[in-house]
Amino acid sequence: MDKIQILNELVDTFGISGFEEPVRDKIRKLFPQVEFKEDEVGNLSTTIGSGGRQIAFMAHMDELGFLITYVEKNGYLRFKPIGGWDVRGVYNRVVEILTDQGIIQGVIGLKPPHLSKKEEMDKLISWDDLYIDVGVESDEEVKKMNIIPVLPARLKKDFVILNEKYGVTRGLDDRVGCALNLLLLDNFLHNLPKNTITLVWTIQEETGLRGAQAFSARNSFDEVYTLDTVSAGNLPWGNFHQSPARTGGGPVIRLADRKGVSSLRLRNFVKGIAEKNKIEVQEIVTGGTTDAAAAFEAGLNSIPLCIPVKYTHSQVEMMSIADYHNALKLLLLICRNYI
Ligand SMILES: [Zn+2]
Repeated sequence: MDKIQILNELVDTFGISGFEEPVRDKIRKLFPQVEFKEDEVGNLSTTIGSGGRQIAFMAHMDELGFLITYVEKNGYLRFKPIGGWDVRGVYNRVVEILTDQGIIQGVIGLKPPHLSKKEEMDKLISWDDLYIDVGVESDEEVKKMNIIPVLPARLKKDFVILNEKYGVTRGLDDRVGCALNLLLLDNFLHNLPKNTITLVWTIQEETGLRGAQAFSARNSFDEVYTLDTVSAGNLPWGNFHQSPARTGGGPVIRLADRKGVSSLRLRNFVKGIAEKNKIEVQEIVTGGTTDAAAAFEAGLNSIPLCIPVKYTHSQVEMMSIADYHNALKLLLLICRNYI
C-alpha cells in the first residue's frame, strides 16, 4: 500500500465536521475484506488480534469547513465557518459545495484594490464580509443547482511535494492520522498482532472532540493513542519556544496541551521504545488539544502521538514525509512491545 497515495486519497475525500460519511465510505472501500463497526454517532472502528493489552489508536476523520446558511435573492451564498479557521486564509479562493448531485464550485472573492479605499484594504476582513459566488444571477438558479442552506463546503485543495521531502496540502490534520491507522490495519492483516488492537476513526474532533467523547464513554482500553498533528514551531519569526517541535525532527509525544497533562506512564513507555530502537522523537508542551483529552476525561490512559505540521489549519499544512514513515515504525513497535 503506497503511503503517499493513501494519504492523498484521504485528503481528497470530502469530510468536514459532522459530514464525515464520504471518509467513512472511503475507509470501507479501501479495505472491503475488513468488518468495520459504526456507532450511533458515526465513529468507525475495527478490532484485530486477541489477548494481551487492549490498545486503541484514534484518528479524526473530520476537518474544517463551512456550512451554507442563506441564499441571497441575487444568488450570492452566505456561510458560517466550522472549526478553528483563520479568516485570513479563506478569501480569494475556490470553494467546493457538496450537494446531493456532487460537488459544485464557487469562489470567495474580495472587493479588488481598484475599488477599495486604503482604510478598507488595511482593515481585517470579518466572516460577515464574505460570501460565496457560484456564477449565477438569482436564488432561482441556485435552487436549480441543488444548493440549499446547511449544505457543507470546503476550500479546494492542492497536494504538493516540496523538495521530495515535504507533503503540503489542506487536511493533513487529521487525514495523516487516518492514513496511519489504515497503514497499521494493512500491516496487521499480514501479521496478526499479539495484543488486541482497536483502530478508531472519530467524528467532529474539530468542533469539540465530540466523537472521541462518545466513543470513550462506551468502550474501555488499557491504552489509547491518538494520532494527530501538532503545530511545528520551526518558522522564521523566532518563536520556536511557543511550539518547540520541528518538521523533520520525528514524531511528537504531546505530553501536555490546553486540556492538561496526558498519561506519564504511556509517555515513558513510548519514549523508551523510541530510544531503544533509535527512532528520533520530540516531546512537547503546547496549545490546542486532541481526542486524547476526551479519552482521558472518560477515564482512559491516553496520550497523543503527533506529526509536526507547519501552517496548521491552512491550505498549506506541511509535514515531513520522513516523520510520517517514522511515526508508522514507532506505532508498530508500540504494538509489539510490553509495558
Ligand atoms: Zn485541527
